[in-house]
Amino acid sequence: MDLLAGLGTILPEDRVVSGGDDLERHGGGVFTYHAPVQPDVVVYPESRDEVVRVLRFANEHRIPIVPFGQGSSLEAHTIPVHGGISLDLGRMDRILEVRPDDFIARVQPGLTHGALNAALADHGLLFPVDPGWDASLGGMAGTNASGTNAVKYGVMRDQVLGIEAVLADGTVMRTGGMAMKSSAGYDLTGLFVGSEGTLGVFTELILRLYPLPEHIVAARAVFSNIESAGRAAVAMIRTGMRIGRVELVDARTVEAVNAYKSTDYAAAPTLFLEFSGSKASVESEVEVARETSAAEGCSSFEVEADEEAREKLWEARHDAALAIRDLYPGMGMLGTDVCVPISDLPGALRHARDTIESRGLDGAILGHVGDGNYHAVFPLDTGDEADQERAEAVNAEIVDYALERGGTCTGEHGIGLGKTGHLQKEHGDSLPFMREIKRIADPDGIMNPGKIFGGE
Ligand SMILES: Cc1cc2nc3c(=O)[nH]c(=O)nc-3n(C[C@H](O)[C@H](O)[C@H](O)COP(=O)(O)OP(=O)(O)OC[C@H]3O[C@@H](n4cnc5c(N)ncnc54)[C@H](O)[C@@H]3O)c2cc1C
Repeated sequence: MDLLAGLGTILPEDRVVSGGDDLERHGGGVFTYHAPVQPDVVVYPESRDEVVRVLRFANEHRIPIVPFGQGSSLEAHTIPVHGGISLDLGRMDRILEVRPDDFIARVQPGLTHGALNAALADHGLLFPVDPGWDASLGGMAGTNASGTNAVKYGVMRDQVLGIEAVLADGTVMRTGGMAMKSSAGYDLTGLFVGSEGTLGVFTELILRLYPLPEHIVAARAVFSNIESAGRAAVAMIRTGMRIGRVELVDARTVEAVNAYKSTDYAAAPTLFLEFSGSKASVESEVEVARETSAAEGCSSFEVEADEEAREKLWEARHDAALAIRDLYPGMGMLGTDVCVPISDLPGALRHARDTIESRGLDGAILGHVGDGNYHAVFPLDTGDEADQERAEAVNAEIVDYALERGGTCTGEHGIGLGKTGHLQKEHGDSLPFMREIKRIADPDGIMNPGKIFGGE
């Protein structure tokens, strides 16, 4: 079977690409330590019907197919390890419907969260999930992404009310709907969110929206050590206030951000905080956070009420991973993504720092600590096996610490290729059930093979 000729009967020639930069972009990742593998061909569908026809073709000829949004996922999710077709949904990026009175939007999967929010601002609305890359909503549903706002609004799975998905054989399936809740049968929406392109292809998403907050204030609380910062974050959450954002950056991360963004934040463990809501509630929450931080020995608590300073702060936080990468040109970056019960957070941060230091690695720690989710990021020489093994060993120690306390190996990045072994440790007993689900949706295993389960 001639792959290009076959796809050429489905899509116009300029949307079936088998060479050049397109193959490179779809064979790697924007931030990864995994070896690249190029697809045989990249296709750019523009409608659900084209997705259906491409999937039918791939299924009939047993060709691996990997859905692709922006390629920013961190565990080699979009690397087509068995070659085949990279299905780039980037041209399906329309907002199909905004229903301001219902707090709902219906969108195509290639739309990015930045583009959605730009359009929603006119309606005074917000879509809160904000990974530190302008990722596509389809990709974000694929990994059940979250980000800095999750502590207040929840993760992607909390926002997706329904989907339209195309299964491996081209069957179109709709789940969920426009209602804010439903008890109608199994929660297939929740199942598909986080399925990493292994069960089907989203062609539409129904998303929950929120009013833009009336008043927003940001703050920076600086500490002498990472455990105190972690304890202060936990204490803030324990007060029961619905804090907008609680982000921790260690001294190394602040140094990286200062170099990358030309900022001059104090190079010490810092909590970046945000409070949002009515003016009165924000003012009282800021005071509670100030007192809580002081009780943990905070050396400076600065409020950024000015919109420009606030935006600069969050831009700096969102670019932190890129800033760290910039410190180590030419190196791969491995990032852990564990999430622990909130009371275990200070101990987990200390353990991560000690583990990195005892192995002689240079690394930075940062994270969405309001959820108990943090990342240790360290550079590695992808061409040096010993370096890779050392980094993997540190990652494994950090994961084991989290699992022993009932945590998870991945709070938001997903399994992809990089965490298949950790998934086995975390959910070995339910993996057979997951495999059965995969077999029902994709009996011939063409959908993003090798991901989540590994070894296929
Ligand atoms: C600098 C940086 C910071 C980041 N910060 C965060 C963060 O704070 N929080 C966080 O959660 N993540 C973060 N990420 C990771 C990344 O942005 C998320 O994983 C995001 O969800 C990926 O979206 P994408 O559009 O790039 O998807 P891709 O990487 O293209 O795809 C992700 C997965 O979804 C599948 N997929 C894509 N489109 C579809 C579709 N239409 N139907 C079915 N499956 C599909 C793919 O096959 C793949 O398995 C960060 C990444 C970078 C580079």
